Amino acid sequence: MSTTAQSVWENCLSFIKDNIQDQAYKTWFEPIRAVELTDNALYIQVPSKFFYEWLEEHYVKLLKVALTKELGPNAKLLYKIKMENKLGNKLPFTEQLPSNNRPAVKPQEIDVPIQNKNPELKNPFVIPGIRNVKIESQLNSNYSFDNFLEGDSNRLARSAGMAVANKPGGTSFNPFLIFGGVGLGKTHLAHAIGVEIKEKFPEKTVLYISAEVFTQQYIDSVKKNTRNDFIHFYQLIDVLIIDDVQFLSGKAGTQDVFFHIFNYLHQNGKQVILTSDKAPVDMQDIEQRLLSRFKWGLSAEIHQPDYETRVSILKNILYRDGVQMPDDIIEYVAKNIKSNVRELEGAIISLIAQSSFNHREVTIELAKQVVEKFVKNVKREVSIDYIQKIVSDYFQIDVETLQSKTRKRDVVQARQLAMFFAKKFTKASLANIGSQIGSRDHATVLHACKTVDNLVSTDKQFKKYVDDIHKKLSL
Ligand code: ADP
Ligand code: MG
Repeated sequence: MSTTAQSVWENCLSFIKDNIQDQAYKTWFEPIRAVELTDNALYIQVPSKFFYEWLEEHYVKLLKVALTKELGPNAKLLYKIKMENKLGNKLPFTEQLPSNNRPAVKPQEIDVPIQNKNPELKNPFVIPGIRNVKIESQLNSNYSFDNFLEGDSNRLARSAGMAVANKPGGTSFNPFLIFGGVGLGKTHLAHAIGVEIKEKFPEKTVLYISAEVFTQQYIDSVKKNTRNDFIHFYQLIDVLIIDDVQFLSGKAGTQDVFFHIFNYLHQNGKQVILTSDKAPVDMQDIEQRLLSRFKWGLSAEIHQPDYETRVSILKNILYRDGVQMPDDIIEYVAKNIKSNVRELEGAIISLIAQSSFNHREVTIELAKQVVEKFVKNVKREVSIDYIQKIVSDYFQIDVETLQSKTRKRDVVQARQLAMFFAKKFTKASLANIGSQIGSRDHATVLHACKTVDNLVSTDKQFKKYVDDIHKKLSL
């Protein structure tokens, strides 16, 4: 932007260049852009947070000397983190951090196991009897970008994934961490990136592995005393995809070995792709130094798909299978299954199956039955307060009466029903339910549940109460 920022920075660079190794200079200083100079503060733009952390960790003194020479004793260096943005300008990747704001995590020594010069390669995937020269990527070619439909819920993750696939190891999305709830497409996207890389760069060694299998391999290698071979094998990979890293929680040994492998790969410009069901901040029992590595690159969340995306996912499956289905059925399914793409797929496949095998017309009725099967375990949890309100309304009493000590028969029944439904619809303990419904103890709640069960099978009128309230609570 301003020529002064650039000239100041150029002078700094020539000083820095004289003081560090050529390769380090190329790696860490060439990508930096000077963007702004105000008074005694120089803003430089770095391509990732990782870059910023690295500079702070290794070159802060050198930078300080260089800049002080140029701008005097009050010189300040400020970073702008700008991710490489080849994805159009939809993504606001810029973030600003003051240079005196040292990373919260204490810098860690990066020690990388020395590469064994002439090892006998041991591939954990080796199939007995077959000499393994090539590392099989373990990718599922059915998971592609083409059939990973884009929506607001996954746009960032999907486009960053594509950027990674176009330039593995060459973007600041390294590691690239995809996180989000179950069934939202993390595994699919991770495979898609690998498949795409294999297509574009057939010579690259890509490996997909679940954290669980990785852990198992590691444990085996320790047992068989082949830990070094294990590490060495993973150091050969150009693109390492580890699925469900939350599985490493609490497994210190595996985390440790992964930490070494990760550092080695990262330092050598190899790409690491991770998935997790949690954001790094929420990962429990994962070592801090590993977590801080996860944060070096980009963490992209996959959210629950919106309605439009759900409809297109359904239509895509129908199209793939060459099946026609009325729009109102598709809409019904998309409206009622919201939180999980796997369930969405399950429901539509089940409908396709029912209609083709039984030659049954797909009706809304059938769709309802199928959807119910898929959503019954994800029914939203109703609160005990809400249950008390519904039950009180139904019997036209107020909640205080329901909670009171009165032993009038209809109030007692209402109270027992509230307890019964609280047990049925919530995960609260009997004691907890009792304390919320008029400070009763757990035995009272247990008794209430039994009484309701008995009355339902003997008293028609009472059964109708239960059915009515059940319906209201399920709406
Ligand atoms: P996760 O690993 O997050 O639990 P998966 O990747 O296994 O989820 O996805 C569950 C299913 O949903 C897979 O069959 C996947 O193909 C499908 N799926 C998820 N997201 C999409 C999407 N955006 N487009 C098409 N299919 C998707
Ligand atoms: Mg998965």
